[in-house]
Amino acid sequence: MKAALWYGPKDVRIEEVAEPVVKENEVKVKVKWCGICGTDLHEYLTGPIFIPVDVKHPATGAKAPVILGHEFSGEVVELGKNVTEFKIGDPVVIEPLVTCGECKACREGNYHLCDGLAFHGLMDLGGGLAEYTTFRKEFVKKLPEGVSYEKGALVEPLSVALHAIEVSELKVNQTAVVVGAGPIGLALIENLKALGAKNVIAVELSTKRKEFALKAGADLVLDPREVNVAEEVKNLTNGLGADISFEVTGVQAGFETSVDVIRKKGTVVVVSIWEKGVNFNLNNLVMGEKKIIGSVVYGEGIFVTTIKYLADGRIKADQLITKKIHLDDLVKEGFTALTGSDRDSQVKIIVTPDKSLID
Ligand SMILES: [Zn+2]
Ligand SMILES: [Zn+2]
Repeated sequence: MKAALWYGPKDVRIEEVAEPVVKENEVKVKVKWCGICGTDLHEYLTGPIFIPVDVKHPATGAKAPVILGHEFSGEVVELGKNVTEFKIGDPVVIEPLVTCGECKACREGNYHLCDGLAFHGLMDLGGGLAEYTTFRKEFVKKLPEGVSYEKGALVEPLSVALHAIEVSELKVNQTAVVVGAGPIGLALIENLKALGAKNVIAVELSTKRKEFALKAGADLVLDPREVNVAEEVKNLTNGLGADISFEVTGVQAGFETSVDVIRKKGTVVVVSIWEKGVNFNLNNLVMGEKKIIGSVVYGEGIFVTTIKYLADGRIKADQLITKKIHLDDLVKEGFTALTGSDRDSQVKIIVTPDKSLID
């Protein structure tokens, strides 16, 4: 079968590899659509970040070259001998977490914080940027009727956003600021509105992304080059500041804005992955008893909730997919488009190994 293999930075190749063989507790999936994630781009440009190169990953035995792709949907084509929960032809998505099932976090239902956590499509023997993959049945979720394979490929990034909102302990009618309107920022905006936030304010520089933010449901978009963002947010909240902010830029200025815009005792949720540290005066936290909390991937049940929201229409995610490409064109039409000068006109590019799915 064809698969996209990461060999090194700027070296991703589409190659023929052996088809995976389904194990007794696994489901084999024929991939329909797989999104390209910011993490894939980091690995492509400056990796390895998560990808094991010199030593095999302790949990999975994987080592570069690895198959990429962790945001994908597909059709069940084969079942391991202990699998009765699915039938051939079921449309599914994969929650791409490899967990140990035994550590304290796993036992307490926080498997996303597992001591030995690995991602399928980064640190595992397979991934979604391939024709087929196999995965443990517990982490395969059915897509109900009405949720397309294209939307299925968005369940992973939408779940990152939904989990971050859960971490924020958002209450109905609160005001939230989303700093950075990339794919996860847009997913946050739509989820925040769906979950009852009164005002959702986006902070963004790019013209194109400002439009996307409004389409996703933001009440207002502020550009830090044009206005004093913290002052504007105060004006909109009776001089208090927002209840919650989400840091989705991964850069110092974005972090500072995230702290400045919240009220006393407000919460900053950091969702970005950081390439380097920040230099920050902690008095900005101390003097207002503000809280900063991290959020990573998605806890138990989040995938199922996201699928439910897509099925009942609470979440539409219509603005997220901006381009559909074939696996053969991954580097040229995918990675290059998302890292080049015109990258802000793209949100999510989804990839299929199946030519018949391309319009
Ligand atoms: Zn991702
Ligand atoms: Zn564990």
